[in-house]
Amino acid sequence: MGNKHTQEIIGKEFQCLDKGFIRLIEIMGNDSSIVQAARVSYGKGTKSIREDRSLIRYLMRHSHTSPFEMVELKFHIRLPIFVARQWIRHRTANVNEYSGRYSEMTSDFYLPGKNQLRTQSTINKQGRSDDLIDESLSNEVIKSMETSQKNSYDEYIQYINQGIAREIARINLPLSSYTEWYWKIDLHNLFRFLKLRLDVHAQYEIRVYAETIANILKQILPISFEAFEDYMLNSITFSSSELYLLKEVFNKVNLKLISDDENILSNTELNEFIQKVTFINENILNKNKGI
Ligand SMILES: Cc1cc2nc3c(=O)[nH]c(=O)nc-3n(C[C@H](O)[C@H](O)[C@H](O)COP(=O)(O)OP(=O)(O)OC[C@H]3O[C@@H](n4cnc5c(N)ncnc54)[C@H](O)[C@@H]3O)c2cc1C
Repeated sequence: MGNKHTQEIIGKEFQCLDKGFIRLIEIMGNDSSIVQAARVSYGKGTKSIREDRSLIRYLMRHSHTSPFEMVELKFHIRLPIFVARQWIRHRTANVNEYSGRYSEMTSDFYLPGKNQLRTQSTINKQGRSDDLIDESLSNEVIKSMETSQKNSYDEYIQYINQGIAREIARINLPLSSYTEWYWKIDLHNLFRFLKLRLDVHAQYEIRVYAETIANILKQILPISFEAFEDYMLNSITFSSSELYLLKEVFNKVNLKLISDDENILSNTELNEFIQKVTFINENILNKNKGI
C-alpha cells in the first residue's frame, strides 16, 4: 500500500539551499502500519485500500494521533547552523550532530541567493518583505558576506595550525557554517514540524528543507500525507469571536445547496460539517465577550 517509491528514495540526496541536503536513511512503517495500529487486533486482513484511506483520514481529522507515531523516519541532513538552531527547537526528535570538538569544521558556508536579499518586512517583524534590494547593493552584500566567511575560516585554520583546541578555534565561525546531523522522528511529530515550518511565516531557509521533506513524504506515505494536507496543513481554527461572525455568515448560506455537492465532502464528512455548523448556530452566543 502506497510506498513503492521508498526504495528509490532511501539514501538519495536531495539538495537544499546552496550546499545542504536531506537524505532519508531509514523508515520504519508505511501507510499500512498506521491502519494496522489503529485496528490493533484485526491486522490488514481483507480491508480494501479505500477503507484504509478512509480510516487514515478519519484518524487525522479527529486527532487520533498515536497510530501516526508507529511510523519512524531517520534523515541525514546538512544545514547551516542558523537553520539548525530553529530546527532543534522541535524537541520531539532524536538528534546526533557533527562534532566541531572532535573533527574539523567544514569550509562550507551558506550564501543567500540574490533573490533572497530582501528588505525588512514592515508587517512581519521577524521576516523579510517581497521587495528585493537593488542589484548593486545585493552584489556588494554577497561579496562582503563571502569575504568575511573566508576570513573567519582562514583564522580558524590558523588557530588549529597553532595547536589551539578545535573546540576553541571554532567559536568565531559564523552562523552560516554548515553542520550535519542524523534526525529521527515519528510521523505525528514530523507533521507538527511541517505544519510550522511549511508556513509562509517560517524563515525561507528552513522552509526549503521542510518542502523537501514534504515532497519525500508525498511519495512514500501518500495517503497519510494527503490527510495531513487536508486536515492539518491547509486547515485553520477559529476563535470563539470569529465563530460568532461565522454564525452570521452561515445564517445567510443555503446548506441544502452545499450538501447537494457530493464532490466536496464524503457523506461522513458532510455529516460532521453539518454538526459543526449546527454547533455554531446553537452554541455560539449572540453576544460574545470577545467582540
Ligand atoms: C514562525 C516561527 C517563529 C518562531 N519564533 C521564535 C522566537 O522568536 N523565539 C523562540 O525562542 N522560538 C521561536 N520559535 C520556536 C517556537 O516557539 C517553538 O519552540 C518551535 O516551533 C517548536 O514548537 P513545539 O514546542 O510545538 O515543538 P516540539 O518541541 O516538537 O513539541 C511538540 C509538542 O510536544 C510537547 N512537548 C515537547 N516537549 C515538551 C516538554 N519538555 N514538556 C512538555 N511538553 C512538551 C508540547 O505540547 C509541544 O507543543 C518560532 C517558531 C516558528 C514556527
